[in-house]
Amino acid sequence: MINHANAQNIKNWLEAINQFNSTLEFGTTRVLFTPSEIAAREYVKNEMLKLGMNVREDAIGNIFATYEGQDTSLPAVWTGSHIDTVLNAGMFDGMAGVVGGMEAVRLIKESGQRPKRSIEVIVYTSEEPTRFGLSCLGSRAMAGKLSLEDAKNLKDNDGNTFAEVLKSLEYNPVEFKNIPISKGSVFGAVELHIEQNGLLEENGLPVGIVKAICAPTNYSVEVYGCQSHAGGTSMDARRDAFTASCEVSLSLERLAKESESEYTTATIGRVEVVPNAVNVIPGTVKFSIDIRDIDFESKNILLNKLLKEISEIEQKRGVNITLIPENHDRPIRCDEKIVEVIRQSCENQGIAYQVMISGAYHDSLFVGEFAPVAMIFVPSKNGISHSPEEWTDYEDIAVGVDALAETLLTLANTTDE
Ligand SMILES: [Zn+2]
Repeated sequence: MINHANAQNIKNWLEAINQFNSTLEFGTTRVLFTPSEIAAREYVKNEMLKLGMNVREDAIGNIFATYEGQDTSLPAVWTGSHIDTVLNAGMFDGMAGVVGGMEAVRLIKESGQRPKRSIEVIVYTSEEPTRFGLSCLGSRAMAGKLSLEDAKNLKDNDGNTFAEVLKSLEYNPVEFKNIPISKGSVFGAVELHIEQNGLLEENGLPVGIVKAICAPTNYSVEVYGCQSHAGGTSMDARRDAFTASCEVSLSLERLAKESESEYTTATIGRVEVVPNAVNVIPGTVKFSIDIRDIDFESKNILLNKLLKEISEIEQKRGVNITLIPENHDRPIRCDEKIVEVIRQSCENQGIAYQVMISGAYHDSLFVGEFAPVAMIFVPSKNGISHSPEEWTDYEDIAVGVDALAETLLTLANTTDE
């Protein structure tokens, strides 16, 4: 038997990690390879060592802490998440999964059991796109979707490339080619994460079992019309980049609502109007498009319809619309066998749960490219995250860890494939 997770341990670790924060006055900010993030890495690695785990890093800074099983030649079982944050965020998104993995290993060790397979707690490098504009750098590279060439092209706001930053921290670029993980070398991966939505709280449930993870497609859009006088230019003579952009946004919203997929979202969250003056018809508008879908085919259908409608808007309004693709990621279904193991673990322990979809994406999305994955969600207070108000009760994380620990142990003892 495994003991229950210790909420105090979880609290201590989370509070300790939260000290590494570059905006102590407002929320938590820990951006990739800034002093606070580097210090947090050191702290976490040290705590992992204290748990008796072997700790290593790959050439992109993914941290692997291994609790060795009886047969280290067997593919290992993974858990873990990230410790970087967006700006002025909270102390749970990502960290709950890292600390949860550590607590799960501590519990398994404490129970005196050494499972057949090794269990590894992973800290994925830069899940958040805060510094280099691209998310999931570590897990993306593991999936073979971020090369050293790509790392040379990613720049932060100060003009440093990701490759330069890695090199300055003595990560070896020659080793970059060894980052991708081959299929079959990981038996299964289970990430614990805060829900970032309010369903669990609404339904009074401590645990969500994720059956599928939505994937994003992002575009940067530029609309060119004609800048001119707001009074002097009559209504039928203008080529207004802003009203054209509005039409694009309404098309996008309608297409997302009409989608036959089980879950689709579409958002224009960043808009820049030029020149942004009361008496001038906007000549240029730049905006972002973020589309999430649980079904890749449906997402492609939506995109095709959108492109068609955009070209109609261009014709009708005499504007030029350029779409610059940023990423077009593939959603994943979680592994049914692992979902079943989590479900069974919850039932064995009397933990109430619901099976759900993750509208947000996580490192598991990319890990899912080379390994069977599933996720365990714990409730987010008021559904809020990426905010100083982000909160999950430590006791709720502990319940998630109870489910996680049994799941990891079961998987690590499964050898009949
Ligand atoms: Zn996260």
